[in-house]
Amino acid sequence: MIDFGFKLSPSSRIDLDKVDRTLLKRIADMEPDFKKCMACGSCSATCSAGAYKATSMRRAILALQNGLTNKALEELESCMLCGKCTLVCPRGINTRHLILSIQKICGEK
Ligand code: SF4
Ligand code: SF4
Repeated sequence: MIDFGFKLSPSSRIDLDKVDRTLLKRIADMEPDFKKCMACGSCSATCSAGAYKATSMRRAILALQNGLTNKALEELESCMLCGKCTLVCPRGINTRHLILSIQKICGEK
């Protein structure tokens, strides 16, 4: 193989047609507001834990939509359930309760 001095990064493309949506459906059944998220990031911007460790409700929801359950759990690992994200969500999603449901459903998979 010829060494060009560089290499191509592996594709990070996700084929959404092949994503297993079983967990997503269970979460949406338990927390119908889950579908209202518009990924605005207000929750992440105000997150108490996010100031010290990578924690983001927005990224967790996006990870779940892409079938990346472990990544979603990682994003919520440091959550202290303070509820600040619930106060600022423009869609009125009870994010605190949603986090508990995500951890419950994804944790028992
Ligand atoms: S409840 Fe969790 S995710 Fe929401 S602001 Fe507090 S620490 Fe961050
Ligand atoms: S603040 Fe609400 S709508 Fe915005 S990303 Fe967070 S959960 Fe979604």
